Amino acid sequence: MRARTMASFHRKPIPHTDWCTGDHRCGVNFHQAPDIIADGQLGARAIITRVRAAEVDYAEIRIRVPLRRADSLARRQLDTALHAVRALLAAVAAVRPAPLPGAGDRPAVGRRAF
Ligand SMILES: [Zn+2]
Repeated sequence: MRARTMASFHRKPIPHTDWCTGDHRCGVNFHQAPDIIADGQLGARAIITRVRAAEVDYAEIRIRVPLRRADSLARRQLDTALHAVRALLAAVAAVRPAPLPGAGDRPAVGRRAF
């Protein structure tokens, strides 16, 4: 009997995109764009990376925010961060494609029937 010591995995490769780095940051089935860094006050930093994994694009967002030493202030900061992240997610989700040309034209609306 033949023993199998290693599993064989096969992942469907996804070709590089026109926006990914095309280097070691990409994998067999995922691709990522260069990081976009936004620095804030007091050492805060947000890093946004566009990623395609399993043919789905998403934004990977990592945010580092220094918190105050006083626990009550730190909790308020966390509460503020939570609300801001929820608002961010809602704002990003609300972005929709522009309507197709002519899709808003409805010549029959408002026309009088004879
Ligand atoms: Zn790539």
